Amino acid sequence: MENGRAGSVEDKTVPVDEIIIEEKQFGNLKSDSTVKEESTGTDEKTTEDEESSLKLRLKMEENFRKQEIEGLAEDNFSRGNKLFVYPQLVKPDQDIEVYLNRSLSTLNNEPDVFIMGAFNDWRWKSFTVRLNKTHLKGDWWSCQVHVPKEAYKMDFVFFNGKNAYDNNDRKDFCIPVEGGMDAYAFDDFLLEEKRREQEKLAREQAERERQAEEQRQREEEKAASEADKAQAKVETEKRREILHHLMKNVARSVDNVWYIEPSEFSGDDLVRLYYNKSSGPLAHANDLWIHGGYNNWNDGLVIAEKLAKSERKDGDWWYGNVVVPDRALVLDWVFADGPPQSAIVYDNNHYQDFHAIVPKSIPEELFWVEEEHQIYRKLQEERRLREEAMRAKEERTARMKAERKERTLERFLLSQKHIVYTDPLGVQAGSAVKVFYNPANTVLNGKSEVWIRCSFNRWTHRKGPLPPQKMLAADNGSHVKATVKVPLDAYMMDFVFSEREDGGIFDNRDGMDYHVPVFGGIVKEPPMHIVHVAVEMAPIAKVGGLGDVVTSLSRAVQDLNHSVDVILPKYDCLNLSHVKDFHYQKSYSWGGTEIKVWFGKVEGLSVYFLEPLNGMFSTGCIYGCRNDGERFGFFCHAALEFLLQNGFHPDIIHCHDWSSAPVAWLFKDHYMHYGLSKARVVFTIHNLEFGAGNIGKAMTYSDKSTTVSPTYSKEVAGNPPIAPYLYKFHGILNGIDPDIWDPYNDKFIPVSYTSENVVEGKRAAKEALQQRLGLKKADLPLVGIITRLTHQKGIHLIKHAIWQTLDRNGQVVLLGSAPDPRIQNDFVNLANQLHSSHNDRARLCLNYDEPLSHLIYAGADFIVVPSIFEPCGLTQLTAMRYGSIPVVRKTGGLYDTVFDVDHDKERAQAQGLEPNGFNFDGADATGIDYALNRAISAWYEVREWFNPLCKTVMEQDWSWNKPALDYMELYHAARK
Ligand code: ADP
Repeated sequence: MENGRAGSVEDKTVPVDEIIIEEKQFGNLKSDSTVKEESTGTDEKTTEDEESSLKLRLKMEENFRKQEIEGLAEDNFSRGNKLFVYPQLVKPDQDIEVYLNRSLSTLNNEPDVFIMGAFNDWRWKSFTVRLNKTHLKGDWWSCQVHVPKEAYKMDFVFFNGKNAYDNNDRKDFCIPVEGGMDAYAFDDFLLEEKRREQEKLAREQAERERQAEEQRQREEEKAASEADKAQAKVETEKRREILHHLMKNVARSVDNVWYIEPSEFSGDDLVRLYYNKSSGPLAHANDLWIHGGYNNWNDGLVIAEKLAKSERKDGDWWYGNVVVPDRALVLDWVFADGPPQSAIVYDNNHYQDFHAIVPKSIPEELFWVEEEHQIYRKLQEERRLREEAMRAKEERTARMKAERKERTLERFLLSQKHIVYTDPLGVQAGSAVKVFYNPANTVLNGKSEVWIRCSFNRWTHRKGPLPPQKMLAADNGSHVKATVKVPLDAYMMDFVFSEREDGGIFDNRDGMDYHVPVFGGIVKEPPMHIVHVAVEMAPIAKVGGLGDVVTSLSRAVQDLNHSVDVILPKYDCLNLSHVKDFHYQKSYSWGGTEIKVWFGKVEGLSVYFLEPLNGMFSTGCIYGCRNDGERFGFFCHAALEFLLQNGFHPDIIHCHDWSSAPVAWLFKDHYMHYGLSKARVVFTIHNLEFGAGNIGKAMTYSDKSTTVSPTYSKEVAGNPPIAPYLYKFHGILNGIDPDIWDPYNDKFIPVSYTSENVVEGKRAAKEALQQRLGLKKADLPLVGIITRLTHQKGIHLIKHAIWQTLDRNGQVVLLGSAPDPRIQNDFVNLANQLHSSHNDRARLCLNYDEPLSHLIYAGADFIVVPSIFEPCGLTQLTAMRYGSIPVVRKTGGLYDTVFDVDHDKERAQAQGLEPNGFNFDGADATGIDYALNRAISAWYEVREWFNPLCKTVMEQDWSWNKPALDYMELYHAARK
């Protein structure tokens, strides 16, 4: 370590009067520079003078400094101070000297003295420097330290280089730095630094990924090129063999049938091909044509010439002028009575066609080498075009997906606008935003004051909550407003409102608080760990909607950068073809049996499969055993045991319906206090019809519970298992998986389409559907019904809709199957009746057929869903994704997602949506007629209105984008 200028104190002290004299001289020189220039008259002289004056000045300063330091040393020593710095006022971006009087320090016997320190509460630029003994009077040691420009404080201790310290009685030493940043500005500076660093790392990472991608592409191209080469070789061999075989029997002429003049010719030559008309089936034809190709018709038909009568007398000879293709080894042809497409009679040499050898063709070996190369180039070109088209499609799909996500986020932010919103809507870290609040719609209605309490990062921000701020009246009259500065390390704004500064009545959104995401911050939301314990999972073990939700909700939450695991029984009837990297992991003992744990990836999700060796899940089915309750109870307990034994610490355990409801109470009774303490239990009811006992118990024990739409949550609110727990019960809509249901990438429909070409896409799908089901190919309104045939789905209304559609001269397609054989029979009879009375306009497909369902969603104009009750319903959502207009009964999730074009404009607007369908009340014919008639009339009469409606519904986002955000809010609320 250097000791810097501290050593300069060694120099002899300059006498005071000398300094004064020097100072005088200095002053004269400086003020009188013009005089000086005149008197010297030369530049050289001037420079010399300047140099000497500078030296003088420096010397004076140096002397002054030494004197000051000596004075400080004496003064401090006399007051018992062991420490001082020079200059005494420390400023940023400056070198200072630190002086320690060793004899006054706890290091008084140490031969070595070091200073160890840093700035700004030890957060910035640490340093260790050796101190040197000075020649000052007393035991003063010193060194030089650079104070960085960001410093507001210097913190340090002294030590002997080993283990003995002087740390100011454990308080450490500290010196303020004046005139630069303060602690807050430094915080921001640090965050900025961090952001720059992160950006740099992100750039580097992106560059690495780009290079890796390039390398991958190069390798892929190389492999593809090798594959094309190999294929070209095989293809060439095949052609060569065929041609060889042919050439064995090929002549230069056949007596009395045909010959070529001249007899020696090569590619590109013009030759005359003679044909004796009377030799074959064209003896009586008026016209004669030759249709030809070459090399066993390799490039198809390339020659078509009319023949002319020849002067030759020995037979009925005709000739045609033919240019021999340049790469021909063999010419191939037939004769006909007309040009291609309109000829009727042919002479095709008894199905063998005619062939002639090209006598002076290019050398065969060379020909095949070139041929192979050409095939290779063609394969490459085809591949390039294929890949380009695929890439373009993938890019467009990704772009549309991202745009939809962005629009949905905006909708999410606006969804509470009647209560709270920010300006700007998208809050940026490091900026100031205005928060607007409308107390009229909350418990603070009518209060004379509103105070906002705000913090960041779900109340975990290092600076804690901001002090309560009184909100001021906003210009729009209804709202009050406050301005909040958002720190750079925020990813979320949190607020609640109260009537007074010290509290009183609070609006905390029923315990959920208000949250607004912050963009561009340098800290990301820490990922949450969610474990689903479920007995169904699409597509490997799906019975109903529950299986879909488990997969697609998990995927959407995982897409938001959280970590999700699923625990599922290992049924013997699992569809393992959809499980990637499926492998055995370990075993554990519990419940008197060994349980094997298998692991695999399903749709990108980590799934643990539990296989108890007692055979509970080797029954060939998911549900349907006498002891289902016992089987699933066992599974729930085994799943919790698995989490415990394997050191999982999930934030949320999410269980579903009666079948994994036991997780809620087993967790609270047996696991909450023993290892899994961090977790909270969320319970979702997909259908209240089954297992009320289990559902009620899980409602009691879970931290939060949900059902699959807001309206269904209200409809079931009065049920005894639910009524006592409304304070923790929420309705969150399901979504559909936009990758599985995507008319732009759907292999079951004929033309891929987006909202841009919806009319064209749906027309093609309708035709394909009519063709496939044997319906009349006509432009009629087509009504689709895709459903389980149970009472829940409104069987009498379904039947009525079929008849009503036929009455209105529409077409109707029903795809559905009934678990109850009596209902199935009933529909079989109806199908028979309709297929004879309305064979060209009605088709009932009474089975489960997913590919057909895609074609119906795409080909139908309307999808009718007249359910008696419907917790959420996916059919109407899928319909809209395919641009089909839903016609639904106003119940449950159907009510929450379908907004009538005539009656629900405002209700839709409140959700940031346009109306998107037709709906009806009641459960009799009048209701459904009312909706269906309006729908069909609109189709017949106002097509210029109907087509844009299809586009509108297609552009609405019914994916998991928004529900996933709602679930995240709920998960966070469960953890509070
Ligand atoms: P639920 O779960 O009560 O049956 P949903 O509307 O939530 O009703 O989900 C039904 C899902 O099952 C939809 O995706 C629908 O397309 C599909 N579906 C129903 N019946 C059939 C069928 N016969 N063939 C193919 N898919 C069907």
